[in-house]
Amino acid sequence: MTKVYNFCAGPAMLPEPVMQQAQSEFLDWRGHGCSVMELSHRSKDFVALAEKAEADLRELLQVPDNYKVLFTHGGGRGQFAAVPQNLSHANDKADYLVTGSWSKAAVKEGERFLHPSVVAEQSEHEGLKGIPDSARWQLDPAAAFFHYCDNETVDGIELDFVPDTGSVPLVADMSSNILSRPVDVSRFGVIYAGAQKNIGPSGLSVVIVREDLLDKARQDVPSILHYQTLAEHGSMFNTPPTYAWYLAGLVFEWLKEQGGVETMEKLSQKKSALLYQAIDGSDFYVNRIVPRYRSRMNIPFQLAKPELDNAFLSQAEAAGLKALKGHRSVGGMRASIYNAMPLEGVQALVDFMQDFEKRMG
Ligand code: PMP
Repeated sequence: MTKVYNFCAGPAMLPEPVMQQAQSEFLDWRGHGCSVMELSHRSKDFVALAEKAEADLRELLQVPDNYKVLFTHGGGRGQFAAVPQNLSHANDKADYLVTGSWSKAAVKEGERFLHPSVVAEQSEHEGLKGIPDSARWQLDPAAAFFHYCDNETVDGIELDFVPDTGSVPLVADMSSNILSRPVDVSRFGVIYAGAQKNIGPSGLSVVIVREDLLDKARQDVPSILHYQTLAEHGSMFNTPPTYAWYLAGLVFEWLKEQGGVETMEKLSQKKSALLYQAIDGSDFYVNRIVPRYRSRMNIPFQLAKPELDNAFLSQAEAAGLKALKGHRSVGGMRASIYNAMPLEGVQALVDFMQDFEKRMG
């Protein structure tokens, strides 16, 4: 069988050793004679697993003690609703930076709960998409929070700095680049991420929230979105997605063995540079993002001859390079290269691209 590399934006590939371990203990987890997914979330062994996963995540991201880590449901979009309900009241304003389609979707959801103010929107200059200079953002010092998306999965735009919002709590959607580089958590009020890219399977989301924000929630926030309720119950107010939590724990262990987020940062730079060089080195492929804001995780590219898109995709699939179709709003191709994608996978894609260009260009 051809070796398959899966470039899906999410649910995305998971590290092979993690999948192998999950397979080996699928029917009999730690001598229980049943799967971990068949155990009570309140059983001693599951609670120990859950605590270890949290401790490993804290270690990987150096989460300070005055932050709670929540393992919850609802994915990224769940947090688009949870953030305003936990951090603001109905007539409050909040600042939103719109760098692409996910931060835009966060604004739309935010409109249900408060008055979002868009401080700046994705810009385009000489055909390249980017972000307006932060000096030009219209910040409101009285905003309940400032929300942004650190890496736009669809657009392929990633911030290379942490916004300075003074005393306004900073909220980051890191769904598609969490654990791919070190982050100074103390700069943030809330960091959240859907799991299905760099953490584990879908169904789980992780929220890191500064403790002093826990009493800012409005009265009518549903209990399962209420950070304080989740924190008080160790993320077990309701039944958490236990199997996803277990797999996330295996991913955290794997990340630690690899050398943690510093190693992932170096690897992501190497992998993305390899692909961008291949794109830039040819007139056949193009990426339309200002170089400074090019994502290390999601790399959209177009063919100079879009009539070849289908041939590219079907031949790539036949060569074991899966899920390269770009998001329907952008078109073309997109290669998602999260932590689990080995360098060899990106090399295989680059080799295929060069060969395709030679044959079809
Ligand atoms: N934010 C970002 C950056 C995403 O990439 C996604 C999903 N791809 C979401 C939010 C929405 O996540 P979910 O589908 O888990 O609600």
